[in-house]
Amino acid sequence: MRIRSFADSMSRIALIYHPIYLLHETGGHPEKKERLMAILNLIQSEKLDCDFVSPKPATEEQVAAVHAKRYIDQVKAICRRGGGYLDIDTVLSKDSYDAAMMAAGGAMAAVDAVLGEYDSAFALVRPPGHHAKTNRGMGFCIFNNIAVAAKHAQARGLQKVLIVDWDVHHGNGTCDTFYSDPSVLYFSTHMYPHYPGTGRADEVGEDGAEGTKVNVPLPSGTGDEGYLMVYREILKPIAMEFQPDIVLVSAGQDPHKDDPLGGMRLTSAGFGAMAGIVKEIANSCCQGRLAASLEGGYNLRASAEAIVSEIRAFGGEVPEVRGTDTDVVRRIEEIKRVQSRYWKCFS
Ligand SMILES: [Zn+2]
Repeated sequence: MRIRSFADSMSRIALIYHPIYLLHETGGHPEKKERLMAILNLIQSEKLDCDFVSPKPATEEQVAAVHAKRYIDQVKAICRRGGGYLDIDTVLSKDSYDAAMMAAGGAMAAVDAVLGEYDSAFALVRPPGHHAKTNRGMGFCIFNNIAVAAKHAQARGLQKVLIVDWDVHHGNGTCDTFYSDPSVLYFSTHMYPHYPGTGRADEVGEDGAEGTKVNVPLPSGTGDEGYLMVYREILKPIAMEFQPDIVLVSAGQDPHKDDPLGGMRLTSAGFGAMAGIVKEIANSCCQGRLAASLEGGYNLRASAEAIVSEIRAFGGEVPEVRGTDTDVVRRIEEIKRVQSRYWKCFS
């Protein structure tokens, strides 16, 4: 039981976690339980001012807001048989279905936390979710946790959802899910070309949702300066014009300079600075409601350090990052040109 002073009641942060996340066994795969264990260890040793909150599993109906019933049944059946593969790098063990339902439930619990007594929340979940499509899992992802969370936020009465995805890989599953839904603004920075091959600047949405998908493909080697320019010059003005009712983050730490699957050069402080901009948007638009959910990040130490930096930024301790990346300047101009058809801030 913890006792809080009045002063710290302003930036209450919930960390959503359940031990079942460790039971999704992947063998020698980089998306392994040690990722979460390293994050939890560092959070504990840094004595961050946060509360741990235990989630409930998502129901089949809640997951079916994003995924085909047939696909949900298929995942369940494979796990009940003892496990198998959804694709070449997406493994299921016997407990993976339950872990994946709890991961989706974790992202939903982060939404509930910020609709309740918390200011920000971070769901420390696995398996990750942003590659999972309506009818198939891929890229280490089973159910699309952040998409289920967005649908949950809308079911709870929030209308406009901003999803920020800073994982080094494009969140193709999330982008697809909402491609013709103008109520969800999906913003992604990702290395391009890279897995899964999607996320070009001209993928802007369709059927009345044009401009609500903002894909920012970045060259390999982009570091703190480049990322921060994109977050300040593209994300912030569009988000301020969109005025979300909640901000969700697909937080993948694989653009870290030390990540073995990445190829970008973000530092842990850079992640904190990015998180600070996102928090600023949430503060300006929606009373600070900000709910993040873990995606990738495969260097155990780097990923844990980046997350600690992000959580500190959610609480108001934002690292200072300044500077210009000339390669990214041209990319920003291109995105502004593409998006100027849809957003007054660029016209
Ligand atoms: Zn990733």
